[in-house]
Amino acid sequence: MANDPKKSHFETDVIHAGQSPEPRTGAVMVPVFQTSTYVQDGPGGHKGYEYARTQNPTREALEASLAALENGTFAVATSSGCAATTNILHLLKAGDHVVSSDDVYGGTYRLFTRVFAQLGIDFTFVDLTSASRLDEAMRPNTKLVWLETPTNPLLKILDIEELSKRAHRRGASGALGETGATVVVDNTFLSPALQRPLELGADLVVHSTTKYLGGHSDVVGGVIVGKTKEHHEQLRYLQNAIGAVPGPWDCFLVLRGIKTLAVRMQRHDENGRALAAWLEKHPKVERVIYPGIPSHPGHAVQSRQAKGAGGMISFIIKGGLEESRRFLTTTKLFACAESLGGVESLIEHPAIMTHASIPADVRKSLGISDGLIRLSVGIEHVDDLRADLETAFAAV
Ligand SMILES: *Cc1c(COP(=O)(O)O)cnc(C)c1O
Repeated sequence: MANDPKKSHFETDVIHAGQSPEPRTGAVMVPVFQTSTYVQDGPGGHKGYEYARTQNPTREALEASLAALENGTFAVATSSGCAATTNILHLLKAGDHVVSSDDVYGGTYRLFTRVFAQLGIDFTFVDLTSASRLDEAMRPNTKLVWLETPTNPLLKILDIEELSKRAHRRGASGALGETGATVVVDNTFLSPALQRPLELGADLVVHSTTKYLGGHSDVVGGVIVGKTKEHHEQLRYLQNAIGAVPGPWDCFLVLRGIKTLAVRMQRHDENGRALAAWLEKHPKVERVIYPGIPSHPGHAVQSRQAKGAGGMISFIIKGGLEESRRFLTTTKLFACAESLGGVESLIEHPAIMTHASIPADVRKSLGISDGLIRLSVGIEHVDDLRADLETAFAAV
């Protein structure tokens, strides 16, 4: 983005893209248009706004902002990240096949295996850290390739550019249809401040705006960003037809969060890197998983495709369930809670909390062990965060 001299920088776009002053009053911040309907001069005589499920100016501002930040041509806001995933899956029909990276968000896994599998869509889950495995998993009816990178909670790194190329290529049978499979990247963990999948060849980006984009743990929302006219028309249609739309207040909160996205992500990344390096040397830690440190197997790909590794760290504490439990009940600044991406630090235990909906045997085969702890590192002072973790280690 920054290489194009005609374009402003990301740090400027988070403040201004889609967020211009309101023309009637000059209000600097986008107003909350809290209305369900709009008056018409006569039947059909409206100003482009008929009913708020279909059009809302606050929502449009959020969509314009996110389309610009991800370098797409359109965005479709939804009531949650799961609603964004649902809308995308409704692009498919019974008999279609999806290849998904194996270590996806628990709610995404549940939607795929419990909701959409029942409607006749087939899913194959593959460890795509080796891109050639995608070729083996692709079928003539593969319509969608679902990627999450870094994955949750194991922070595996997938090569977006390489996987997009392979997904778009004709299958060996030549039967894949004109454009190959649509590549979707869940970019929730890094946000467009650190990674922009559309620039790497992906077709659609999905976010839980609940996380870094909102950034203050006070709103639930989602968005899909894309670049073709066809996807825009289809997804706009589904947004209205399915009706899982965000309310204007929620759109306002995400817009306000986005204003500080660039500075927040910079600090999340600094704190994340410092704590990961410290944890790696800690005698009570078995292994640290953080794509920003050289010991991570995906470090090279991560450094090439993203501007930072962000604030998510997973680590395995020596011992098991008892040690994890003690650790999680002792931290104070790191609040024990699900979710991530807020200014405050959170800590959670995937096997018991966020990933409990994944069957125990699948969890085990993925490597989500009882000693696995996930940190969402906030933007507090790093010394205080380190001291909080040290107190918890001492209690174990
Ligand atoms: C939270 C999350 C989701 C789901 O978003 P909701 O807003 O909770 O529906 C999807 N993907 C990832 C990576 C997430 O962290």
